[in-house]
Amino acid sequence: MEHFPLPELNDALIERYQPIQEKIAHLMPEEEWLTHLPWIEAINQRKQEIGAVILAHNYQTPEIFYGVADITGDSLALAQQATAVEENIIIQCGVHFMAETSKILNPEKTVIIPDERAGCSLADSITADGLRALKARYPGVPVVSYVNTTAEVKAETDVCCTSANAIDIVNALPAERIIFTPDRYLGQHVANHTDKEVILWDGACEVHEQFTGEQVRHFREESGAFIIAHPECPQDVLAEADYIGSTSGMIDHIARHQPQKVALITECSMSDNVSAQFPEIQFTRPCNLCPHMKRISLKNILRSLHELGPEVQVDEAVARKARRSVERMLEMSRKPAEKAA
Ligand code: SF4
Repeated sequence: MEHFPLPELNDALIERYQPIQEKIAHLMPEEEWLTHLPWIEAINQRKQEIGAVILAHNYQTPEIFYGVADITGDSLALAQQATAVEENIIIQCGVHFMAETSKILNPEKTVIIPDERAGCSLADSITADGLRALKARYPGVPVVSYVNTTAEVKAETDVCCTSANAIDIVNALPAERIIFTPDRYLGQHVANHTDKEVILWDGACEVHEQFTGEQVRHFREESGAFIIAHPECPQDVLAEADYIGSTSGMIDHIARHQPQKVALITECSMSDNVSAQFPEIQFTRPCNLCPHMKRISLKNILRSLHELGPEVQVDEAVARKARRSVERMLEMSRKPAEKAA
């Protein structure tokens, strides 16, 4: 990395980034922050030079999330917001299916992922061939797939969904049976909130699947924390939760109800990043790290800004079909007033 010069760490640089340092001081010792600072400055300079925008998922580490990201959020919010920015180069700090979704919704833009190996156990749990075989067993049954899927799987899907809108999408479809892929836990959560028959795929997120109901129960008894769980967690964990919600739903719920002490049963960086937004609330463990999200680092972000790669490509025919399933979700999720407007 020597050929990508870093700025000098001096008082002016430290002062310029002080508001961010103060925001995340409870998450990161000063010595660690100072090692990140030249990289953060080099990234912010370089993205301006080349006209790039950095999208960072909620599960990215605080130095990325607060230090260099222009847009933050869940995977779909990132891809959608990227359609409104002027920059033609998108650096996707997240996992591969997220970069594909950005490319699907922004086909004319260059989409780059700093580490191509950043995968996802959930997206890897299903293939387009596997889904075609399931569809052949249930002809005519509509398919709803979580956005945590590859472009090929989205192309075989009738409507995509997020964890925030999955129940509404399934309930809105004019069919009594629905194929739901790939997360069996989110699918079961949906099945518990609909009268329809839900045919599940046997996939799971390796991060959320590790939590257990017993662990959460003990934790609540010891800490007294308000428990907020992601619907990718197993059913016995969700049964212990005070609130179940997507990443954006978790943030909304905390903002509205301001509990004194919160445990987010999800990925660790999500908990860290949310805690920096609500300094008056005490955030407490347990959490699990996503090893795929953690492949993205300040170093490989800077390298990708210089090398303009690795670029994410999606076959145009696949992208066209995949875009339809994503756009159908957006259309179905729109409020009635928006539809009429
Ligand atoms: S947290 Fe789970 S669903 Fe999200 S990227 Fe990691 S493995 Fe995939």
